[in-house]
Formats: sequence, structure tokens, C-alpha cells
Amino acid sequence: MKGNLFVVSSPSGAGKSSLISALLAKHTDMKVSVSHTTRAPRPGEIDGQHYHFTDVDSFKERIQKNEFYEWAEVFGNYYGTSKSAINDQLEQGIDVFLDIDWQGAQQMRKLVPNLITLFILPPSRQELESRLNKRGQDSQEVIAGRMAQAQSEMSHYKEYDFVMINDDFEQTLSHFEQIVLAHRLKTANQQSKFADLINELLAN
Ligand code: GDP
Ligand code: ADP
Ligand code: 5GP
Repeated sequence: MKGNLFVVSSPSGAGKSSLISALLAKHTDMKVSVSHTTRAPRPGEIDGQHYHFTDVDSFKERIQKNEFYEWAEVFGNYYGTSKSAINDQLEQGIDVFLDIDWQGAQQMRKLVPNLITLFILPPSRQELESRLNKRGQDSQEVIAGRMAQAQSEMSHYKEYDFVMINDDFEQTLSHFEQIVLAHRLKTANQQSKFADLINELLAN
């Protein structure tokens, strides 16, 4: 595959969707994988853009048909990454981001040897709760449920290659960008991208 695959996880509200979308706004050769989910759309969410919204029966049918690289139950809903969401993009040399939970990250690590994984932590528990509230798109009950899960989700941070504390947004975005751009310069990537040049430089 010509593009790199990145997984970004965090407790809900730590800022992963905002960071990914800010990075994508700066780079046309980066895309986010659009997951399937059985959760109801939030106000403003568009089918096919934020998620492919689906019902439980169709989701289970897709599992049976082996259409997912990974799927998991998160906060009482099913979420999954379909194979078609990422294969074409990687083939075209586009870097692809998966905004998925730690269960999905564990499954992807087994499938993709050179997967790059990032975990985002909030600067405090209080700030996490305040961001969930400020986002203003989930009910109090849903927010309480997500806060209750936050600690056990955060305990998985050690399984990731990179950890970022999302305190100042612009600084975190800059660190995120540096990680992604540095990965493009890895020897194995450069070798395939510049094969002709390298052959010419090393020819007798
Ligand atoms: P967010 O936490 O505000 O981004 O809330 P979302 O409703 O967008 O995501 C809910 C949870 O599902 C998060 O933990 C996501 O990381 C996870 N998630 C989203 N898409 C996927 C996916 O394709 N696969 C897996 N395994 N998890 C996903
Ligand atoms: P996630 O996708 O991890 O659930 P979001 O990207 O939806 O999180 O962010 C949750 C809320 O916090 C949003 O309202 C977003 O604008 C805000 N936010 C994200 N990062 C920061 C930050 N560094 N400082 C302040 N607010 C932030
Ligand atoms: P939200 O309901 O706030 O959109 O997402 C809640 C959580 O589900 C987030 O942590 C998000 O990363 C995760 N999530 C979204 N899509 C997927 C997916 O396809 N697979 C997995 N494993 N998790 C997902």
C-alpha cells in the first residue's frame, strides 16, 4: 500500500474528530475513514460524510459478509471500519485516519504491521466533561455514560505509539502534523516513492 494508515483514539470529547478534521483541512492527500454505526445521527451529521448510519440488522449482515476490517460495540452502539472505506485511498497514496476506539485499534494492529497509532488525552477530567458539554450534541445521560467510560478507555494509552495531551489545540495539531509528516519520510516509504531516483543515484 502506498499511503500510511493511522489510528487515533481517545475518550469521547478529548478532541480527536476536531484534530483530524483540522489536519485534513490543510492536506488534500489525507482522508478520514468513514465508519458504519448504529448510533443515531447528531444534529448536523451527514450520512456518508460523518458516518454511514445503519440499523442493527444491516450492521450484523455486513459482519456476516466479512465487510469489516474491525468492528466493536462502543457506548451501546455498533461501530465498524469497512474494507472499502480505506483500501482505495491507501492504494492511491493517500494517508488514511481511523477515528476508532481501543478495541478497534487492537484488531487493526493484528492486520496492519506498519500501522501508526496515536492516543489523545485531555488535560484534566474536568476539562473532558466540559468539552463534552460544550459540544452540546449529546444528552446529559449520554454524556454521563461517556464520562463513566473515560477512565477505562484512557487506561489503554500505553498500547499506542504516540500520546498527545490535547490542552492547547493549535499546539496539539502541530504535534499531530509533525508525526504524520515524519512518517512519510521513513526509509521504507521513501524507497518506494523515489525508487527511480535512488536507482539512478546508486547506479555505476
Ligand atoms: P466521539 O468519541 O465523540 O468521537 O464519538 P463517536 O460517536 O464519533 O465515536 C464513538 C466511539 O466509537 C469512539 O470511541 C470511536 O473511537 C469509536 N469508533 C468510531 N468509529 C469506529 C470504527 O470504525 N471502529 C471502531 N472500532 N471504533 C470506532
Ligand atoms: P472527540 O471526537 O474526541 O469526541 P471532539 O473533537 O468532538 O472530540 O471535541 C469535543 C469538544 O471539545 C468540541 O466542542 C471541540 O471543539 C472541543 N475541543 C477540542 N479540542 C480542544 C482544545 N484543545 N481546547 C478546547 N476545546 C477543544
Ligand atoms: P461517537 O458516537 O461520539 O461518534 O463515537 C464514539 C466512539 O466510537 C469514539 O471513540 C469513536 O472513535 C468510536 N468509533 C467511531 N467509529 C468507530 C469504528 O468504526 N470502530 C470503532 N471501533 N470505534 C469507532
